[in-house]
Amino acid sequence: MGKIIIANWKTNPDTPEKAVKLAREIEKGVRDKKNEVAIAPPMPYLLPVGQALKKIKLAAQDVFWGDLGAYTGEISWHQLKHCEVSYVIVGHSERRRLVGETDEMINKKVLACLKHGLSVILCVGEPKQIRHRGLVLVKKFISNQLEKDLRGIKSSFTSRESLVIAYEPIWAISGSAASHPDKPNDAVEVISYIRTITRKLYRLSPRIIYGGSVNQKNARSFLSQKEINGALVGGASLKPREFLKIIEAAKQ
Ligand code: PEP
Repeated sequence: MGKIIIANWKTNPDTPEKAVKLAREIEKGVRDKKNEVAIAPPMPYLLPVGQALKKIKLAAQDVFWGDLGAYTGEISWHQLKHCEVSYVIVGHSERRRLVGETDEMINKKVLACLKHGLSVILCVGEPKQIRHRGLVLVKKFISNQLEKDLRGIKSSFTSRESLVIAYEPIWAISGSAASHPDKPNDAVEVISYIRTITRKLYRLSPRIIYGGSVNQKNARSFLSQKEINGALVGGASLKPREFLKIIEAAKQ
């Protein structure tokens, strides 16, 4: 199985026309068939962006765990499936921090997606105060997140295709104060640890990717590592040429 590169556009761009143009430019430049590419536009652009994509998969930035019903303002798996979404980002640190999403809520979202055939991109990662205290504590922090976020998950209905874990140190995400990318060796160490515990505790073998200030200059240093199965890209995914270079860097 190849690598997966996911674009997280957050609340960009400001119009659906610009989003479709961006999607078309990226779609046109994707030549590599071995690796997978997905784009997560803002929710109102899912349909038009999805219609512009053929080789690239569509992703959502969030989902609600409930079914159809009295959940004002939320979006259920029904609507995402109707838009032909393949992947759902769950537990992004911006949602944990800005909207107060808890591990319990994230766990319900993960279970709802897997139950209804949507693949999950589960984001985990530590704040700066934890990283400053060393990788032993980082691993403890991440294992605590995974334990809560993956509670009740069954290996019988979770294939390698249906679960991606994105290791995103919060301080490495561009937009957070004084952000800078992780050192590839440190990211590999944490990702290898995530691989060991997901196998040991849950008998799962998800793809595990890195996210945090990936750009055209540093992409190869992360994506050439065999332990890193891909990248979640924010800011740089809004520049088609740069994002295409990141996709190129995933070629072995
Ligand atoms: C993200 O928000 O998931 C992310 C990795 O952002 P950036 O690439 O801009 O750091």
